[in-house]
Amino acid sequence: MRVSESAPPTLPLRPDLRGVHPYGAPQLDVPVLLNVNENPYAPTPDVVADIATAVAEAATGLNRYPDRDFPALRADLAAYLAAESGAVGLAEANLWAANGSNEVMLHVLQAFGGPGRTALSFAPTYSMYPEYARDTFTGWFTGRREADFTLDPEHARATIARHRPSVIFLASPNNPTGTALPLSTVEAVLDAARGVGPDGADAVVVVDEAYAEFRREGTSSALALLPDNPHLAVTRTMSKAFALAGARVGYLAAAPALVDALRVVRLPYHLSAVTQAVARAALRHAPSLLAQVAALRAERDATVAWLRERNLRVPDSDANFALFGVFDDRTAVWQGLLDRGVLIRATGPDGWLRVSIGTPGEMAAFRAALEEVLGW
Ligand SMILES: *Cc1c(COP(=O)(O)O)cnc(C)c1O
Repeated sequence: MRVSESAPPTLPLRPDLRGVHPYGAPQLDVPVLLNVNENPYAPTPDVVADIATAVAEAATGLNRYPDRDFPALRADLAAYLAAESGAVGLAEANLWAANGSNEVMLHVLQAFGGPGRTALSFAPTYSMYPEYARDTFTGWFTGRREADFTLDPEHARATIARHRPSVIFLASPNNPTGTALPLSTVEAVLDAARGVGPDGADAVVVVDEAYAEFRREGTSSALALLPDNPHLAVTRTMSKAFALAGARVGYLAAAPALVDALRVVRLPYHLSAVTQAVARAALRHAPSLLAQVAALRAERDATVAWLRERNLRVPDSDANFALFGVFDDRTAVWQGLLDRGVLIRATGPDGWLRVSIGTPGEMAAFRAALEEVLGW
């Protein structure tokens, strides 16, 4: 049912929302779920116990509003990033968090986008970015990625100069392609962003590192560029590597002045005391969770190799999924897998499919189903 059909004509629905569907991949009840890049491993009993204790403690104070600025969680996140990426000089004032990095990025557009301004990214990329733009009345433009899904720094420069955006989104590793950007490309974009914004301001460059923990050896995080770039924001999430998608915790690292602008637009008490407690408890288990990420990375590399051996095209992946193709009728392949109990995602350019990396058992089920569907 379309929203426009369900909304009585007496409701003053915004004209640009008429006929628009709510975003989201199908949530189907099948045995093998490899469609939304979740971590396949449920929290272990010791993590569950720690979270339960932290939530019980938070519950004793739930008659009060939570700390609006959550300094303890922000300090924990800063310490985590320093340990994970070797990022130096990060403190509580550099960190911001919200209910998923989706909300963090919405905060960025609420603060730096708006009517008469534009945001820019390079397609194919994450399909939520244009929705944040729409919801904040920010204009939206996309440049292109190359045939191998890398970003050409010269094209990026020219596109930024032409559109003069206030905000630029770079997903690295990119969803749905898995492509990580070299730091030299991010630096070229940061350079091109200087002075192009409203009244000669620098455009804010958001490097969306939702999948950063899955990057291959030798791939760097844009966190290293923070000290020299007050217009850079690096977003991360606990939804993927941390196996905490259900808790809704995303965060960002940036210069304190950028973070302060986000504090203006957030709703009061947007991060519940329960969410803060859950996130802090999970962060205490970062080392064991990251050990699991290493296993997922190995499974990812094996999946990419297996698909390539069968003459499918697979861009290099620094994420917990692989894009593969190219199929004349991707819907038929997607449906064939679903008929065998394996749900993946038909996303990205026409002809491509994306599979999230699951447990060894789930990946074996995926391979067996794909062999049948393709008649190998
Ligand atoms: C999954 C994902 C996110 C994370 O979203 P959350 O709101 O933190 O769950 C952000 N960016 C990209 C590109 C993603 O694929």
